[in-house]
Amino acid sequence: MQTSKVPDSKMHDTIKSVLTLRLHELKSSLSHHEKETTQLLPPQASESAYLRNEIETLEVEERLEAEEIQLIQKALDRLERGTYGTCLSCHKPIAKKRLLAVPETSFCKPCKTSGEPLRQRDGNWAY
Ligand SMILES: [Zn+2]
Repeated sequence: MQTSKVPDSKMHDTIKSVLTLRLHELKSSLSHHEKETTQLLPPQASESAYLRNEIETLEVEERLEAEEIQLIQKALDRLERGTYGTCLSCHKPIAKKRLLAVPETSFCKPCKTSGEPLRQRDGNWAY
């Protein structure tokens, strides 16, 4: 892919630091949410519709954060193994622009959005 003149190694360094930072943020946010959920959960919690809603909201956030943590850890793992930037579905390179926009992604945009084979449009990768 010639969408960027930035060398892969340099880009990978950038992505690695972005992902590491994001991972750190998510982990501290997640543990904070877990603490909140526990604090919000007195025995009478089921009596309170407000608290139930609060807890449900927190649980949804926790789940999303946990999922993102997994994605980021997998991406960091691929960076270590040198397989980062290759689509897990079609095994073609993922557009650098997409990697920089969504660094934890495992799939190129076409695979992610449609599941169809990779398509290239006018030399630019849609993302
Ligand atoms: Zn793909």
